[in-house]
Amino acid sequence: MLEEVKIGDKLRLRKAHPCGGFEWEVVRIGADFGLVCLTCEHKVFLSRRELQRRMKEHFPKAAGTE
Ligand SMILES: [Zn+2]
Repeated sequence: MLEEVKIGDKLRLRKAHPCGGFEWEVVRIGADFGLVCLTCEHKVFLSRRELQRRMKEHFPKAAGTE
């Protein structure tokens, strides 16, 4: 499942960010995954394993809807 995560996808994590937000957007993919909190725009980096553990829902960016 995690292999399908792409830049622009939205994720929902198990634990809320301190700002209260649950949703994140993927902004970087590599050794670490870069996520931006959609509520406060705070940026975090998570390893693949960490992301896999924290991710609750994945909302792939729909193709061709922009
Ligand atoms: Zn936040």
